Amino acid sequence: FRKCNALKFVHRNLKTPCSIAKKLNVNTIIGQKYNSNTMDIRSDEDLKMYFYENRLKTFEGWPFDEDCACTPESMANAGFIHTPSENSPDIAMCFFCLKELEGWEPEDDPEKEHKSHSPSCYFISLKKKIEDLTVEEFFKLQRERRKIIISKTCNEAINKFEEASKKRRADIIKTAMDEE
Ligand SMILES: [Zn+2]
Repeated sequence: FRKCNALKFVHRNLKTPCSIAKKLNVNTIIGQKYNSNTMDIRSDEDLKMYFYENRLKTFEGWPFDEDCACTPESMANAGFIHTPSENSPDIAMCFFCLKELEGWEPEDDPEKEHKSHSPSCYFISLKKKIEDLTVEEFFKLQRERRKIIISKTCNEAINKFEEASKKRRADIIKTAMDEE
């Protein structure tokens, strides 16, 4: 598919994707990128967790396995990766909208839980495997994820700043009182 690089360029620079992007399967483009060398797209760090198999691998030690709704398979299928901490072995985060959920019960349906706690997640609204996305959908998914990462990073920075300024203000007041 020789037009591929040109297409990538065009779609990166277009706000409204054309009809080709709407119909073209994403495999055509991501496949092309990796044809020229022997690298496998599934091991590319940036794209790794877009794939079900790689998300599934993170669920080692997941407390729910058999006879329940939230098995590693259904969790990974709903976009989750396992992000346990020392005190919470059952934290899972959607790789796409970064929503973290814990306190899972065996009968919880990951897809339903995901939808109800993060209704605007683009991945869960697509209901498709990454391999079946159109180019337009794939780029939108990437764009939405980056937007969420940026806004999360900004909020964290703002919170840190507010905390620091609160502390500084308290210090100033204390110094002023001591001087009186
Ligand atoms: Zn999500």
